[in-house]
Amino acid sequence: MSDVSDTIPFRADGRRADQLRPMRFQNHIAPHAAGSTLIEWGNTRVICAVTVDESVPKWMQSQKVVGGWISAEYSMLPYSTLDRKQRDISKLKLDGRSQEIQRLIGRSMRAVLDLEKLGSRTLWIDCDVLQADGGTRTASITGAYVALTLALRKLGYEGKLKENPLLGPVAGVSMGIVNGQALLDLNYVEDKNAQVDMNLVMNGAGEFVELQSAGEESTFTESQLHQLIALGRSGIQELMKHQQVALAGV
Ligand code: UDP
Repeated sequence: MSDVSDTIPFRADGRRADQLRPMRFQNHIAPHAAGSTLIEWGNTRVICAVTVDESVPKWMQSQKVVGGWISAEYSMLPYSTLDRKQRDISKLKLDGRSQEIQRLIGRSMRAVLDLEKLGSRTLWIDCDVLQADGGTRTASITGAYVALTLALRKLGYEGKLKENPLLGPVAGVSMGIVNGQALLDLNYVEDKNAQVDMNLVMNGAGEFVELQSAGEESTFTESQLHQLIALGRSGIQELMKHQQVALAGV
């Protein structure tokens, strides 16, 4: 006989512990960009757009580094949060969190890109959060890969690439321990109440690009770490299927 607690969802939105929030992509949301998508992941929505600059940073020119570069910028729009988030420009400085996230996005894209094959150009990835409900950095990474693929396809159609510089997919997902339970893909309320908070970025071969994890006034065991990684790994596999669908035939 099943216990009644088996049938009552314990997550506020009714998800299983290992279940992602619903996801969809709206590609070409920013027509002037070389590639763009709006990733909607539960109530988190991020516009990811790639623009191409046919030059490379000065340090690459002076050090005669062959190939191109990719750089990312991340920001939360003022109305993306419950309380208005002041624009960085009005404070005349980029906040530390945004800086950390945009570096993570840049590293994640560089992990799946052969910069030599990109040629002597810079790709700018802009991730602008329209609505924040947890997991904006992982949504930025997962969406940026789709926008990046679209931009590289455009460069390919224009005859600007000799070879495809993309090595494979990359996606990111959050995990955490909330009320002692390991959960995949935390929303804001879960994130706020998490004892352990984790972000995982993986490539298509299931290799780690980045693993961020911290106990929030709490600690975690090695076995919990493995449990969270297993949840994250299966989440990433599912995310890559969503990316494939978003990129099929467009
Ligand atoms: N958040 C917010 N204002 C901020 C920073 C974060 O409202 O200035 C919320 C937002 O919903 C975000 C969540 O807190 O998604 C978790 O933030 P975190 O820094 O863990 O990054 P994220 O989970 O978005 O990658």
